This record gives sequence, structure tokens and C-alpha cells, in this order.
Amino acid sequence: MADFRLSEVDQKILDTVIAVGNSTERHTRYYEDHEDEIPPARLEGERGFEEVLPMFGERKPDDTPMMTFMMALSIARGSARGVTRGLGLGMPTGRAAGLGNAALQSAGTADQKAKWGSLFLAMSITEPGVGSDTKAIQTTARLDGDEWVLNGDKIFVTDGVRSDGAIVWATIDKSAGRAGIKSFLVLKGAPGFELVRKEKKMGIRSSDTAAYAFRDCRIPRDSLLGGDETVPKGGGSASYRGVMKTFNMTRPAVASGGVSKARGALDFAIEELAKEGVSVDWSKSPGQRSAVEQKLVELEADTEAAALTVLHASWLSDMRQPNNLESSICKAKGGEVCRTIPQGAMEVLGGMSISHDHVVEKFLRDGRISDIYEGTGQIQRLIIAREILGYSSEELT
Ligand SMILES: Cc1cc2nc3c(=O)[nH]c(=O)nc-3n(C[C@H](O)[C@H](O)[C@H](O)COP(=O)(O)OP(=O)(O)OC[C@H]3O[C@@H](n4cnc5c(N)ncnc54)[C@H](O)[C@@H]3O)c2cc1C
Repeated sequence: MADFRLSEVDQKILDTVIAVGNSTERHTRYYEDHEDEIPPARLEGERGFEEVLPMFGERKPDDTPMMTFMMALSIARGSARGVTRGLGLGMPTGRAAGLGNAALQSAGTADQKAKWGSLFLAMSITEPGVGSDTKAIQTTARLDGDEWVLNGDKIFVTDGVRSDGAIVWATIDKSAGRAGIKSFLVLKGAPGFELVRKEKKMGIRSSDTAAYAFRDCRIPRDSLLGGDETVPKGGGSASYRGVMKTFNMTRPAVASGGVSKARGALDFAIEELAKEGVSVDWSKSPGQRSAVEQKLVELEADTEAAALTVLHASWLSDMRQPNNLESSICKAKGGEVCRTIPQGAMEVLGGMSISHDHVVEKFLRDGRISDIYEGTGQIQRLIIAREILGYSSEELT
């Protein structure tokens, strides 16, 4: 039976992660307002993650399973009020923590994992005319001797500025649809690879988002992830399926980012209202509570429900069980609460909630993206419907 209660050592790690996250709170506004700057490795007054890492050595096999625990940490870390380093836990260097690293681990050969495993890799799928419908990829890859030659444009590459390179989707045969799509490792500095710009954004401003151009960009032949150069007849390629499988690992992580913003906004509202003498008495029935108390109860229940969907999808992954449905459920739910809960928190707080002096409005802006990238809420609901009703992606689009 799944049990998401944390052991003593795990709780200690979680408490420390929150404290480390909060230690950079006073720098938060600076990096909001100076989004062109990438925060340095260590900020003034920052408690380091070094103090967290040895605690992992104290963990025993019967502590919370690893991915489930990492998601619990991610929810807590993201709701901390310090500078958000990237999208993950904000470990000291951020190395090997990009979305492209997850793709490498799930679809790369043993040789490729050994060779590139220590790099920091972004994931580059989206193009100016291609978002949700990933099988419509226009970027091409052509084999020329012992090199692939890439041509096309990519946008919205998370960590695309600070990463060492990216896993880039391109088609080797446009007429084959998704069967022709392969992923390639392209390193910064490859001839014909240009970092075009860094986007200015409404939220997650200390996470960089890049646009790339590939103009006769030449990369070595062994850069094709998984190594399979064939185009199977009918259906998707193993490479395409392999990278799609990555999403079952990364969607809970993205969902946890959304839940964390909900959690952060709600905790802020609870703390601020408590200062005014308003807090929820859980022993009272709904009819006995004030409207604000009842609203807090509803926000709490919805936030907790979303967190549980994330932990469930992660736990299935820890148990090596299929989690395609649960990954999409948690992504859809995380994408919902990252919008509705900060909004609700702002409602109960009133005017102070939009002030630059507090972070609650930041949670609203930072959370919004969780319902867009890694598949929008609509796309998740489409996947959920397919899974439950037994339709293929061709039958239900
Ligand atoms: C900050 C940021 C970071 C990102 N990071 C990355 C990254 O690292 N790598 C990467 O490759 N991409 C990244 N993306 C891109 C992101 O994954 C896409 O924006 C997303 O997939 C949606 O694609 P789109 O923007 O083209 O919208 P569209 O696909 O054009 O969709 C527009 C609207 O139509 C809806 N819609 C589309 N198809 C359907 C359908 N069949 N049924 C119902 N509704 C539908 C969508 O839900 C959405 O509401 C990032 C985007 C942002 C903003």
C-alpha cells in the first residue's frame, strides 16, 4: 500500500531544504527585476545544499521511495520564498539536472549515457509553428558522410542559455510523420548552432528560456540518441516513443512545480491571516465557519489533493509500474491548482497580495507555466481520456 508519510530522516531533509530555500528570500526581487542576470552559484546569506547532501547518506531502504521523496522535496522547495534556481531542487551546481538529462537516461545507449551523463542538457522540441502537436516537427536532420546536418528553428528551450547543449528533436523523413522523428544531442559551439535570444517572461524569470537556430549545423553521427537510424513503417519510432516515455518521469516533476506555487501562496495567506487572528478551526462544521475560514479549508483540500496525485504518479514510477495515466492526471491537477490556489490566496488577502513587498503575486506568475509546458492541461485531459476510454492518439485527437 502506498504510504506518503515521511520518515524521521526524510522529514529532517525536507525541513532543511525549506530553510535553505528561504535563505535567499531577500534576493528574490532582485532576480525578478534583473532577469537578464543568471544568479551566481552562491548568494549572500545563502545556506548551501551541502548541508542537505550528507543527510541522504542517513537514509535507509525503508525510507520514502526516492522519486516520491524527491517530489515531496520539490513541492516544499518550490514553495520556499528564495531565488528559484532552475526548476528542480536547486542543487548546488544544477549539473545534469536538465530535461534533456532525463531524455538521455530514458532513451540513450549505455555508451551515450557514459559519455554525456555529466553534461547539463536542455530539451528542445518546440518550434515557432509546432507546440502541442509534436509529430509536426519541421526541423530536419540529414546524414552527410559521418555527420548529421540539422536545419530549423527552436523556441522556448528551458535552461537553453546555461546548459552545455540540448537534446533536439528533428525529422530524418518528413513523409514518415512521427516515425521519422529522432532526437539528437547538439552541444554548444557546434558549427551552425546559434543561441538566438533569451526570452523575457511573466514568471519563472530566474529560469532562462532560449530560442535556437540551426543552419547547416553539423554534429557527429553518434549524436543520434539511442543510435537507431532506421525509419519504421507505420507507427512511431523507438526513439520517439523512448523520449515520450521521458514525460512519465518529468510530468510529475513539472506538476510538483505547480503544486509548490499553490502551496507557497496558500502558506503565505495562512500566515498573514493568522497575524490578524483568522485561522481555521478544523473542529468546526462548515456552517460554523466564517466565509474566509471556509475558503481556506477548500484551498487546503485542493492543494493537498493535487500533491497526492503527484506523489501517487511518482510512487508508481518507484514501484516500476506503468504511470502514463497518473502522470497526466497529476500534470493536469498540478496545472489547475497553480492557477486557482494563488488566485484564491490573493482573494482572501485583498490588496496586499499584489504588492511588490510580498511574494504571493510571484507565486501566481511563476505557477502559470506549469499548465503550459510539458503538455498543456488540455493535452493532459486528452491523454487521460485516451487512457481511460482505450483510444489511440489517431482515434482521439
Ligand atoms: C517558459 C516556457 C518554457 C518551455 N520550455 C520548453 C522546453 O524546455 N522544451 C520544449 O521543447 N518546449 C518548451 N516549452 C514549450 C511548451 O512545451 C509549449 O508552449 C506547449 O507545449 C504548448 O505549445 P504551444 O505554445 O505551441 O501551444 P499550442 O500547441 O499552439 O496550443 C495553444 C492552445 O491550444 C490548445 N490545444 C492544442 N491542441 C489541442 C487539442 N488537440 N485539443 C485541445 N486543445 C488543444 C492548447 O492546450 C493551448 O491552450 C516551454 C514554453 C514556455 C512558455
